[in-house]
Amino acid sequence: MASATIRVRLTAWYLLLLTLVLCLLGLLLHLYLGYTLRSNLDRSLVHRAEQLVAIRDLPQAMADGRFAADPGEVVALYDSQGRRLRDPSADNSVGVNPARVESALRGESSFSTERGQDGRSLRLYALPYPAATSPMALVAARPMDNITAAQRALLRTFLVVGPLTLLLSAGGGLFLARRALKPIDRMTATTRKIEEADLGGRIDVRSNDELGRLGQTLNDMLDRLERAFTRQRQFTGDASHELRGPLSVIEAEATLALRRERSSEEYQAALATIAEEAGGMKRLIDQLLDLARADEGQERLSRELIDLAAVAAEVVGELAPVAEEREIALHFENAPPAIVCGDRGHLRRLLLNLVDNGIRYSDAGGTVVVRAYRAGDAARAVVSDTGIGIPPEHLSRVFERFYRVDAARSRGGAGLGLALCQAIARAHGGTIDVESVLGTGTTFTVTLPIG
Ligand code: ADP
Repeated sequence: MASATIRVRLTAWYLLLLTLVLCLLGLLLHLYLGYTLRSNLDRSLVHRAEQLVAIRDLPQAMADGRFAADPGEVVALYDSQGRRLRDPSADNSVGVNPARVESALRGESSFSTERGQDGRSLRLYALPYPAATSPMALVAARPMDNITAAQRALLRTFLVVGPLTLLLSAGGGLFLARRALKPIDRMTATTRKIEEADLGGRIDVRSNDELGRLGQTLNDMLDRLERAFTRQRQFTGDASHELRGPLSVIEAEATLALRRERSSEEYQAALATIAEEAGGMKRLIDQLLDLARADEGQERLSRELIDLAAVAAEVVGELAPVAEEREIALHFENAPPAIVCGDRGHLRRLLLNLVDNGIRYSDAGGTVVVRAYRAGDAARAVVSDTGIGIPPEHLSRVFERFYRVDAARSRGGAGLGLALCQAIARAHGGTIDVESVLGTGTTFTVTLPIG
């Protein structure tokens, strides 16, 4: 319905404009035709007047009735008093404006349009007549019937041709509008078919014009939506899977313990396993919640000015006992403050994850170095370790949710840590990058805009 309305509206506007153009054209042609025909008539009157003046003794010829005007034409002579000379053969029904005669007697020639007694219009030329004695005036007039007839014919033509043109144009306009808007109907039909459950359908883009680009934009949007939905589905699947493991252990442990009477040591052991698994689940759920919060983006972040270097130092202090226990040297390189605007808790969690990974994925005797500094318009935090490294083919995927390089070397995590780091960096308008050499070490670099 909407496109039908656009179609009709477009055609209506088009017709309105065309009507205006046709009216204007008709008016201009009407005026131009009148003007040219009148100019021609005036020229013929001047020519006729010259002929009349050239006739020898016209006044006498008129008085004698020897002079005969052309059919339809009026020729009259006036004496110096403005009285018309008697001419027995003349048509006397035409009244001549005395003002014209007077100005001709004063020596001025002029044209005028007069209406005869029968309602017909006459074009009239009054000029001084060169008489030997006193001044006289000569008037030559011819009917304007041809001009009015031509103008009427023009008007008739327009009255017939105009509506016909408008009718044809309305048809053509509707046809063209329908053709131009057809891709929109197609797009509507396609997008209507695309369901939330199956985002596979795409608009058939056939041109590179405005509508083609609209179709392409919608397709790109559908691509993004489909990817997001797939990720979401996978995420839910992975999360359920991760939670199912510890839950199965808890269930099995409890069922086993309840099967018969146990010693208090056995109960303790069972409860300890259950507590440990529950703890793991809680950590996982906490991570999922953190991730969901970070995903909400900047709106949910508290914004304060924070020295990234101070946060890094704090994190290093916090993890120092863990590093020591695992015989890993953990260093913080002191640097001037690097102030960013952001959420202290989130940024702390980010660095904590990176340093914790550095420690977890290094063997005893390794080193983890943490630096934070300002680099131009950015603040940077760098965590380098001399650990096991990440194989190149996995590098681009370590930030994905639930991605672990390989389960065998995974040291306890669910593969959400780096995903959370990336979500936090992005929510702060920043980035996180990784470089790694297998067996040599890994460096994570967080870049944030300065506050
Ligand atoms: P997890 O919580 O399982 O450690 P992460 O998202 O933190 O998950 O890391 C994803 C994967 O990237 C890990 O399984 C690990 O194999 C690899 N990884 C992360 N940090 C390091 C590092 N510093 N050195 C080597 N491998 C790392």
